Amino acid sequence: MAKVDTQFKATRNYAREMDDADTLSDFRQKFIIPQHKGKDVIYFCGNSLGLQPKAAASYYEQELKDWAEFGVEGHFQAKRPWFGYHHFFTKSLAKIAGANESEVVAMNTLTVNLHLLMLSFYKPTKKRYKIIMEAGAFPSDMYAMETQAVLHGFDPNDAVIEIAPRKGEHTLHQSDIEDAIREHGNKVALVLFGGVNYYTGQYFDLEAIADTAHEVGALVGFDLAHAVGNKVLHLHDWDIDFACWCSYKYLNSGPGAVGGIFVHDKHVRDKNTFRLGGWWGHDEKTRFKMKKGFKPTRTAESWQMSNAQVLNMAAHRASLDIFDEVNMTDLANKSLHLTAYAELLLRQIKHLKFEIITPSDPLQRGCQLSLLFKSKGKEVFDFLQKNGVVADWREPNVIRIAPVPLYNTFQDVYTFYDLLMKME
Ligand SMILES: *Cc1c(COP(=O)(O)O)cnc(C)c1O
Repeated sequence: MAKVDTQFKATRNYAREMDDADTLSDFRQKFIIPQHKGKDVIYFCGNSLGLQPKAAASYYEQELKDWAEFGVEGHFQAKRPWFGYHHFFTKSLAKIAGANESEVVAMNTLTVNLHLLMLSFYKPTKKRYKIIMEAGAFPSDMYAMETQAVLHGFDPNDAVIEIAPRKGEHTLHQSDIEDAIREHGNKVALVLFGGVNYYTGQYFDLEAIADTAHEVGALVGFDLAHAVGNKVLHLHDWDIDFACWCSYKYLNSGPGAVGGIFVHDKHVRDKNTFRLGGWWGHDEKTRFKMKKGFKPTRTAESWQMSNAQVLNMAAHRASLDIFDEVNMTDLANKSLHLTAYAELLLRQIKHLKFEIITPSDPLQRGCQLSLLFKSKGKEVFDFLQKNGVVADWREPNVIRIAPVPLYNTFQDVYTFYDLLMKME
C-alpha cells in the first residue's frame, strides 16, 4: 500500500497540485455534479446516493427505444436482450466483489436479498441458533436479524448478539469481535456484519471475521452497502459464505437501483444449498419448457426469482462501465490520500468542537469520515448546506462526509475546510 503523504499542506495551491498529479481526475467528467449558485456543489454524500453518470440517460433511452421498436421481441432483439439482461453486470460485479463470475448476480434490493440469503444460510438448530452482529448496525439489518430469529421460533433478545464498542469508545476492536464469536462458540449459527459501518465508517477485517466464524463452525455473511465500490474486496479468496449490497451508494446507479449478491462457489455448487425457487433461477436451457421440478442454474443466478427489472437496471450498466475502466486498487489508493487529507485538515480546526469517530487507520476505514459534534453540530451542518456542501446529518450529532475518489477532488476537500475555518 502507498504511504500517505506526510507533507500535506493546508493550502489551496497544494490541493490544486494534488489534483493535477491525480491520474484518476478525468473520471469526474463522467458524472453530473449538482449546482449551487452556478457552481459545482461539494458533493460529500456518495455514501448515501452516488452521483448520476452522464451516460445513464442514454442507457434508459436505449431500453425505451427498444421497447417501442420491438415490443415483446425486445427480450431477444434489444441491443442488450432483456432475456439475459442480468448477465450484463456479472463480469463487472465479479471484479468489484473479488469473486468468480459464477458467484455474483444483480437482483432485487439489499434488504430483500439479505432475507433471501438468510433463508439459505441461517439454518438454526435448538443448540446452534445465535446470530452475531455489530451493535449500531443499519436499522434494516437489525430488523432483518430480529424477524429472522422470530421466523425460526427464537426470542431475538436471546438469539441476536450485538458486539458493542468498549465504554467511552465509538468503534470496535477486532479482538473483541473475535473473542465474542469464540465465547459463544458452538451456539453461533451465523456471523452477519456490515463491511463498513454506516455510522462510524469503520471497515472491518472481513477475512479475519470469516476465519473466526468458520473456526467455531458458523457461517459468515456481510452487508456490503458501504464497502462495495469503496474498498478492495476479495470475497472468494476470503472464503466469505455470502454477501449482499446496494448499488445506489458508491456504485452510483440511482435511487432504489438494483442490489447484488455474492454466494461462494462452494455453496452455489452444493446441491443441498436451499434457495427459494422462481423461473429466473431455473436452468436457462429448460426455463421455457415450463415443467415441474425446480432445477437451479449452477451459478448465483439461481437465487433470482423474477426476470430482470430492465428499466431499473439500465443506469447500473452506465455506472459499471466507469468501474470497468478503473483499477480498484488505484481507486482505493486515491481514496486513502483524499480521506487522509480531509482528516488532516479537519484536525487543524480548533474553534469547532467535534471528534472524528472514524478510525484514523486507513485499513479500518473507506472514504467516509464521521464527525461527532459536542455542540453546534446542526448549525455547522446548516452552514455547510447554505454554502454548497452536500453532506449528511445523522441524529443526534453526527455529520458524515464522504470524499469519493471517482468524482471528488483535493480542492473539494480544501474548500470544505476553508468554509469551516470561516464559520464563526
Ligand atoms: C443503505 C443500506 C441499506 C439499505 O437497504 P435497502 O434494502 O436497499 O433499502 C441496508 N443496509 C445497510 C448497511 C445500508 O447502509
